[in-house]
Amino acid sequence: MEINGKTKLACLLGHPVGHSFSPYIHNFLAEHFEQNMKYLCFDIEPDQIQVTLEGLKALHVLGCNVTIPHKIAVMPYLDEIDKNAQIIGAVNTIQNCQGKLIGYNTDAKGFIQSLLAKGHTIKGKHVMLLGAGGAAHAIAVELAAQGISELTICNPIQTEALAALIQEHFPTLKVHCKPLEVTTEQLETVDILVNATPMGMLGEHQLEMPIDKSLVPPKHLVVCDIIYNPQQTHLLKWALSHQLQVVYGIDMLIYQALSSFEIWTSLKADVYNDVYQLLKNKKIIESA
Ligand code: NAP
Repeated sequence: MEINGKTKLACLLGHPVGHSFSPYIHNFLAEHFEQNMKYLCFDIEPDQIQVTLEGLKALHVLGCNVTIPHKIAVMPYLDEIDKNAQIIGAVNTIQNCQGKLIGYNTDAKGFIQSLLAKGHTIKGKHVMLLGAGGAAHAIAVELAAQGISELTICNPIQTEALAALIQEHFPTLKVHCKPLEVTTEQLETVDILVNATPMGMLGEHQLEMPIDKSLVPPKHLVVCDIIYNPQQTHLLKWALSHQLQVVYGIDMLIYQALSSFEIWTSLKADVYNDVYQLLKNKKIIESA
């Protein structure tokens, strides 16, 4: 669609932003759904966040994504924040609703959707979450909101902070906090295992695995790795070698983008396969 006098802008605010492939996804979605909209990336210095957000209002921008290091810093300048994003304490999507900036966290929603889309249920399940950083916070809050019955958080340095946060907002949920030394016995009672550490990520951590590869998992265990590069981490290879069902990090990434687009346009963007194919064609992801 050509740019004309009515073209609307959506954008990414981050620092840096050059590595992002959100422009591929959102400009594809805009074309696909015939929206007169373009998506650009802006590298914003941390001390320019307030003025940037005021600028978005003045320019009548549709909305934006927010990435590192601004996900927390934008929050004081928003007019409204979705309840779960508030509990998570981070915003990755902003909607400009007639001059009112509303913040959401679609990272967490993307993770939930990646499970639901594969036919898994979440309500009543026992989830073991490896890691307690930014992504783990978002995932833990959304899983709790979806009605899991038990959450075990495993982290190298045992942190009680995430467990306390979840317990405060979801008092009926059973929450345990353990060091990152998972045993076969512990896995027996777990339904869904989620890696939210960088162990397995391209680069210095690629050969690492957050659990011991000699562990024997129960047959019902669903294994999710939110790392998307590489698509098949050592953890997922281990899970597949035991014939377990797996959920890939790239799915969370795609669904968070679809969710942001839906917030800006009020359209139902049920086009996971098209976006997956787009990223494959652009050689951004390899085949699983
Ligand atoms: P983060 O805030 O730095 O948190 C990382 C967590 O992993 C922390 O709990 C940390 O423990 C633990 N950790 C760090 N290094 C470790 C190591 N070598 N061994 C064991 N544990 C380690 O990072 P994040 O933003 O949450 O991101 C985590 C991963 O998720 C990254 O690989 C990122 O690419 C991926 N991610 C994917 C998506 C997606 O859409 N698929 C979205 C967001 C993030 P300490 O507390 O002890 O430091």
